[in-house]
Amino acid sequence: MLDLTTLFIERFGTSTAEQSVQYYFSPGRVNLIGEHIDYNGGQVLPIAISQGIRAAVRPTTNKLIRIQSINNNGELTVDIDTEGFAKRPNNWMNYPLGVIYKLWKSQQKLKKHLRIFETGFEMLIDSNLPMGSGLSSSAALEVVVAYVLFNQSYKKNLNQNDFMRVTLAILCQKAENDFVGVKCGIMDQFAVAMSKQNHALLLECDTLRYQYVPFQMRKYAMVILNTNKPRALADSKYNERKAECEQALNIIKKHSAIKQLCEATLNDLDFIDNPTLLRRARHVITENTRVTQTAKALIEGNWIQVGELLNLSHQSLRDDYEVTGFELDTLSSIARHTEGCVGSRMTGAGFGGCAIAIVKNELLEDFKITVANEYHKQTGLRLGIYDVSAQDGVKEL
Ligand code: ADP
Ligand code: MG
Repeated sequence: MLDLTTLFIERFGTSTAEQSVQYYFSPGRVNLIGEHIDYNGGQVLPIAISQGIRAAVRPTTNKLIRIQSINNNGELTVDIDTEGFAKRPNNWMNYPLGVIYKLWKSQQKLKKHLRIFETGFEMLIDSNLPMGSGLSSSAALEVVVAYVLFNQSYKKNLNQNDFMRVTLAILCQKAENDFVGVKCGIMDQFAVAMSKQNHALLLECDTLRYQYVPFQMRKYAMVILNTNKPRALADSKYNERKAECEQALNIIKKHSAIKQLCEATLNDLDFIDNPTLLRRARHVITENTRVTQTAKALIEGNWIQVGELLNLSHQSLRDDYEVTGFELDTLSSIARHTEGCVGSRMTGAGFGGCAIAIVKNELLEDFKITVANEYHKQTGLRLGIYDVSAQDGVKEL
């Protein structure tokens, strides 16, 4: 922590008010399986990872919120008295600002006075999460800011308080949707806020019902493989796929009493004539089943089965949903064919970003070298590799 403290003092100076610096950690997350089904009433199975955002925070009494990032330029300064919540041109600032603004609006609505808006704080963040690679650096940033705001406002112990954690996850999602303008689902913020060490989080995105599933690898290891290919197409294709799912749902609805595409069965596919829509719907239905099967396999500690389900998920995202692309297909295929690997798939929105792989422990180091070399040979790109373990959600250190 010494580094962050030194940098904090360099940037914000020593305090005259004897206020001490507090530390927080907000993890990134990776989704094991359940891709592109959150907006179809499906379930996801993320874990929080050990990479994330550290924050040093010092309360003040000057009614200013000041936030700096070691990973991005400039300072977000919010003057609470003048309600300085206008969107900033420096886009990273809009993630924390959106969260602050949403909380401000909700206190106005509830006619409450939250302590944080009577006081203020200074905050410095530092991250070892790649930005824009699908490991949810944006949710890590939003959630750590929300956690600090809640922590300074309520006299409740957030560590033990799932209700408050869910509330702050929803607040953060709304901030990203309405303020930043990114139409993400709830998974990222929920995973960052609610994950538990050595567990995956089985979440129904629609109802927010959730359950913890053991995630203990013993003879195996999981790695995240970063293609280092920017997710250029992801946004436009995301909207296109969403629209296609809606069309498929509307066709099936004429025959079956379902509300969401994930409720459909494979038999319902007979109603769809359009081959593209049929494949999109098939991915959604089979992927949702694979999530249930993966959770069961995790409970049984059957990693071979988990690996097979990851492979099937990738195949479905490649052939039926068509959101993989050259780099992700090349990478997961190399991984799958390298000794020791029991399964691999893309994770996140697709068209770049990351894949995951499950590998036998004793072959892990060789696996990393082989896959990195082969990936570079076939794509000209450098591979990023991160070891994975299932960690707790956001916390005060
Ligand atoms: P992902 O969430 O997959 O990493 P996003 O595009 O959703 O990708 O979010 C990345 C954005 O979040 C960055 O471009 C930046 O604006 C903001 N961000 C994330 N981490 C930091 C950080 N440590 N410091 C400043 N801004 C950050
Ligand atoms: Mg994000």
